[in-house]
Amino acid sequence: MNKDKLFLEIALEEAEHALVENTYPVGAILVDENNQIVAKGRNQVHSHHDATAHAEINAIQLAGKTVLDAKVHGKKLTLYSSLEPCLMCTGAILFANIKKVVWILNDDSGFGSFNKVKEAQLFEKKYNEIEIMEEPYDDLKIKQIELMKQWSMNSNHVDNLRK
Ligand SMILES: [Zn+2]
Repeated sequence: MNKDKLFLEIALEEAEHALVENTYPVGAILVDENNQIVAKGRNQVHSHHDATAHAEINAIQLAGKTVLDAKVHGKKLTLYSSLEPCLMCTGAILFANIKKVVWILNDDSGFGSFNKVKEAQLFEKKYNEIEIMEEPYDDLKIKQIELMKQWSMNSNHVDNLRK
């Protein structure tokens, strides 16, 4: 199997795990240039009562020193996420010097920001060093959409809280 697809499937497993924990179904993993998984992250906003506990942040934090070492030694890290990174995570990805970002589903109607920041030509020099793959696999996209549908029925879903 294509390695990008394999890693996105692992990110999707993390998203499923998050949903079981009654929080946003988003998963993200960090992979090094030897195709080793450095860290697996998932959304923990509701499970940890932390509005900043997004999957990508979780993965970057768990990767610890590996992220800084990659930065110092010019090594390439890839982040695979089940959903397009939000503004906060886009910032974290730029700070972590991640060189490739792949996600299953765009998030135009939500907080998806990785493309918006790129289109605004902000941090253009940084962006020029980053390879982006968005929505590469329709079957995985359908699975993430399904997880988000299930999330919309969860009691922690913010639309429900507003009712
Ligand atoms: Zn985020």
